Amino acid sequence: AHLDRIGKVDDRIHAFLHLDTEGALAAARQVDDRRAAGGTLGPLAGVPLALKDVLTMKDVPTTCGSRILEGWRPPYDSTVVRRLREAGVVVLGKTNMDEFAMGSSTENSAFGPTRNPWDTDRIPGGSGGGSSASLAAFEAPLAIGTDTGGSIRQPGSVTGTVGVKPTYGGVSRYGLVAFSSSLDQAGPCARTVLDAALLHSVIAGHDPLDSTSIDRPVPPVVDAARNPDVRGLRVGVVKELGGAGFQPGVEQRFREAVDLLSDLGAEVVEVSCPHFTYGLAAYYLIAPSEASSNLARFDGMRYGLRAGDDGRHSAEEVMALTREAGFGDEVKRRIMIGTYALSSGYYDAYYGQAQKVRTLITRDFERAYEQVDVLVSPTTPTTAFRIGERADDPLAMYAADLCTIPANLAGNAAASFPAGRSPEDGLPVGLHVMAPAMADDRLYRVGAAVE
Ligand code: GLN
Repeated sequence: AHLDRIGKVDDRIHAFLHLDTEGALAAARQVDDRRAAGGTLGPLAGVPLALKDVLTMKDVPTTCGSRILEGWRPPYDSTVVRRLREAGVVVLGKTNMDEFAMGSSTENSAFGPTRNPWDTDRIPGGSGGGSSASLAAFEAPLAIGTDTGGSIRQPGSVTGTVGVKPTYGGVSRYGLVAFSSSLDQAGPCARTVLDAALLHSVIAGHDPLDSTSIDRPVPPVVDAARNPDVRGLRVGVVKELGGAGFQPGVEQRFREAVDLLSDLGAEVVEVSCPHFTYGLAAYYLIAPSEASSNLARFDGMRYGLRAGDDGRHSAEEVMALTREAGFGDEVKRRIMIGTYALSSGYYDAYYGQAQKVRTLITRDFERAYEQVDVLVSPTTPTTAFRIGERADDPLAMYAADLCTIPANLAGNAAASFPAGRSPEDGLPVGLHVMAPAMADDRLYRVGAAVE
């Protein structure tokens, strides 16, 4: 049924870059066989899923939305995919994304943009626009995204779906193509809070193949999603994440969600996190710096594209020609910013300074969590903007990440839950919830209450 639905609508939505029809049907048959043989099946056995094209799946193309990886088929499964297979989840295919997860609209994909199912002239968010759009268009009931600065939560917000960024280290990064290794985190996307929690519990947990993986029990996310009781929960509204630059309808729906939590018995207070204002500036130095190093591996020798390999060019020239042809503008911009910020003479002024700001933001969180159990804000300042509207203005594009970035910088858990539609344009608004590291269950408690 989902493959049929994709066949019907995906030429308009373009959520998928690659469909693995045969693999999906084989995986579904395997679940049937297991059931027929009287085997035990987990809660998600046989449920279809859309996988962001930044995670490897053996022999299935992985492009990260980039020409430079066109034609590359990874020889191994990421840990996320291995766990999905073990749970009997049926992977339908790979979803569209901003190239190497750099962007907030999916317009930076080398393979054309994804469209927002609510209004196909608008962006579905990014970088994981394909994953969230596939949910909103009913092409898949579950999806996997990755979130470096908001790429699960902001697409979730603008498509009216649920997106969770687990605690850093909660889900293995093995087989997740690295953008900014100290920030990247894979997580669940779904249409309901319980679906997201079930998926979370399948993909999370310690993995010896990822040295930053946390060796502690997975927080009780499914129990939390089943129990919408927020009585006595202390909720902090972040003062700095609102006001100027926020669409009035977004703020209105956000306030209503907070009032609902208060009506349900939560204790709502205002909290100040003074350094969050500098999150964007710090992130857009740290993430490009790490990216400039991580993307050095795409040299035309190891993977995918190779340009100028005609016997007339040196190895260095082949590398340069491949990177010139294979990377898009935003990726080149990040590599240049990152290389500059890390260069001797500028390191202290830019990268070192940004890392200090990162520490101050982490301390803001620590201080806030002495007073409250969770922090809340709108997920993103506006509803989905029009395709093309911010494409030539990187700073306007970066502004979409204002609320989501602090949780990545601190490594904490955070999520976006649907909070109705903005009265101005009828487009979805997201409630952003943040919780301390390894307290991911609190996100689901709030999500279940407002659902
Ligand atoms: N929009 C942010 C960026 O462009 C976040 C991307 C992400 O989370 N992968 O870097």
